[in-house]
Amino acid sequence: LPRELLETLRAQLGLPQWWQGASQLEIVAGALLVQRTTWSNAARAVETLRDRALLSVDALAAIESNELATLIRPAGFYRTKATRLKGLARFIASHGGLATLDTLPTDVLRRQLLAQPGVGPETADVILGYAFGRAVFVVDAYARRLFERLDGSQAGLSDGELKERIERGLPDAESLNELHSLIVSHGKRYCRSKPCCDGCPLSDRCQYFALEES
Ligand code: SF4
Repeated sequence: LPRELLETLRAQLGLPQWWQGASQLEIVAGALLVQRTTWSNAARAVETLRDRALLSVDALAAIESNELATLIRPAGFYRTKATRLKGLARFIASHGGLATLDTLPTDVLRRQLLAQPGVGPETADVILGYAFGRAVFVVDAYARRLFERLDGSQAGLSDGELKERIERGLPDAESLNELHSLIVSHGKRYCRSKPCCDGCPLSDRCQYFALEES
């Protein structure tokens, strides 16, 4: 199912442009800054950091919290996010940088990321998948909603079970990242909290749609 889903969404929605050309650290920062806001707000904050030449682990670890908070204001919750971003930069620095962290096995790296303040499973998996190119699927609100609607039996799955199921069916990092990005695009356009099923490329395999039509 995940492979079919990827192919159908790719054919209909095209290749997502997420984080194309972004550095590894930009993705890490973006993953934290996007929490509880839109991607465009987080992107504005990342852009400011880039313009101020602050997108290095050392610069983020060293900058004063209040100054960082002011710079990332467009991303919202900026004081908390500034503290967390600095914490994450210090964590990376204390491990010898991103390249050294990248030598860790995925499960170890995931555990270490999850131990950092403000890094929950979704953020950890975005960092693992997009910044470190690990084969992990990001279970977020879009994914949960879509899979539950496509097949009601998946409503009872925990996030971990859903993640495992998708990763089993689609075991490479590139496809998993692409599937996640496509699910987000699809969720914004069609499978919203109040779904717009008209023209949805997945309606022929969607239990929710079949029930609504019957
Ligand atoms: S048919 Fe409707 S409910 Fe089903 S996946 Fe598409 S938008 Fe979501």
